[in-house]
Amino acid sequence: MQRPPSATGHGESGRVGGRLPMSDRPATVTIRCDACGGSDAATISESVVGGRLLWVLSQDCPAGATEATGWDRTPDEWRRHILEQCGGWRLRVPGGAIGTSVAVMKVLRDLGVPLAGVKAATRALAEEGWPGTEAELVILADRLRLTGVAASISRER
Ligand SMILES: [Zn+2]
Repeated sequence: MQRPPSATGHGESGRVGGRLPMSDRPATVTIRCDACGGSDAATISESVVGGRLLWVLSQDCPAGATEATGWDRTPDEWRRHILEQCGGWRLRVPGGAIGTSVAVMKVLRDLGVPLAGVKAATRALAEEGWPGTEAELVILADRLRLTGVAASISRER
């Protein structure tokens, strides 16, 4: 039987140019709002755009819908909602032979891992995995692959 073409593009695992939306629905949150004095429904989502993380907070306010966006690191409060509602992911590098890889250490340092934590981080990559949101780990996996390190991500259970 022939598979129908994907209508939405969601759930595709292949690399695509431009914007790569994560497969999950956005997380839903409620925000206290100064503009209307009430509580607004809002959604927070992450996408990968040109190898960077783009977060979008869309707030449905009776006084006028608003949208806030930012790059690279979703603010902790919204990131927590994404992890709770969309699930956490883990990135692993099988093989365990990455502890001495300068390239991997550089990727980790670029992520903001302090020098003192790089050794523990490389061990985590090879063993229990590196936790994060799907978008964060898609980006990290791509950076590692660029250095020749095979990385895979999977949903945490
Ligand atoms: Zn409002």
